[in-house]
Amino acid sequence: MINWRASLRTPARLSWPARVSRALCVLLFAYAVPGAAERLTGPGRPFDISWDAALTAAERDKLASWLERAARTVRTLHGALPRDDIRIIVETRRGAGEPVPFARVLRRGREGVRFWVDPGFPLERFLTDWTAPHELTHLLIPYPGRADVWLSEGLATYYQYLLQARDGLIAECTAWQRIAAGFARGAAALRGATAPRSLAAASRDMHASGSYRRVYWSGVAYFLEADLALRTATPALSLDRVVQRFGQCCLDDGDITDGAALVAVFDHLAGTTLFVPLYDRYRALETMPDYASLLARVGVHTNGGETGCAQDDGPAARARRDITLVDGERDAAAPGP
Ligand SMILES: [Zn+2]
Repeated sequence: MINWRASLRTPARLSWPARVSRALCVLLFAYAVPGAAERLTGPGRPFDISWDAALTAAERDKLASWLERAARTVRTLHGALPRDDIRIIVETRRGAGEPVPFARVLRRGREGVRFWVDPGFPLERFLTDWTAPHELTHLLIPYPGRADVWLSEGLATYYQYLLQARDGLIAECTAWQRIAAGFARGAAALRGATAPRSLAAASRDMHASGSYRRVYWSGVAYFLEADLALRTATPALSLDRVVQRFGQCCLDDGDITDGAALVAVFDHLAGTTLFVPLYDRYRALETMPDYASLLARVGVHTNGGETGCAQDDGPAARARRDITLVDGERDAAAPGP
């Protein structure tokens, strides 16, 4: 059996512009016709997979293990996947420098994800890559349109490391260190911007302006702020539960085509007046949200470039563990009396 917790190496990542540039190359020059179909059935394996014909049987087995584990990882969000018939297309991009150089959500027809992979990487590198949890999390809500893409990317990016931590693929504090680093990258990107623009405007032309980091990580702050508010409300709730309720009632509701409609449903399901006013505030922001204050509320602090997690039993550390760990692990993670 593989020791998942020992596999904590951080894959080398390219910058966003490099990834996007290479993604365009992939789209233009490396399109490969899927050559074999396979149904991974059973609990945690709800995928219809089309494999690139260039993959060997051993490579398909390895990648099937990766996808199976990704399903398990995403199920740590609320216990189920967004669908039980997710379409997966796997294409190859050898020499890419990372296991999953590019992926995109499939919205037309049956929903799913198209992955471009370098099958030369070992399984452990695939398992510690965040791409699969990110893309599969996208399927938990409908596409909200370009001006509200910060909501879609924010939800997927908020959960990508948290779910890996819940599933034991990365350490609990590692997830928060990566979230803190993401916020800092978003802020750095915004400092280089020429003129003030709202988050909605930056989202609308995200691809043309390259404002990925600001858009993604502002969205993460939105969901972290909402999650913290839900968890400290009476009665306590969580973003996990709201997303779960949304999946049960409304995921296939064709009327939800923008962010305003989506957050209104979230408020209805949570019995709150939270998501809508927060949405109105965030979409108008011309700066990064106050992510340092949000991180402080979960006991995450950055000093001199080093990010650490409070390990005491105070309210901030407890709030962080509540968000990061699945139910059975919380007692074990809490410090003794
Ligand atoms: Zn995404």
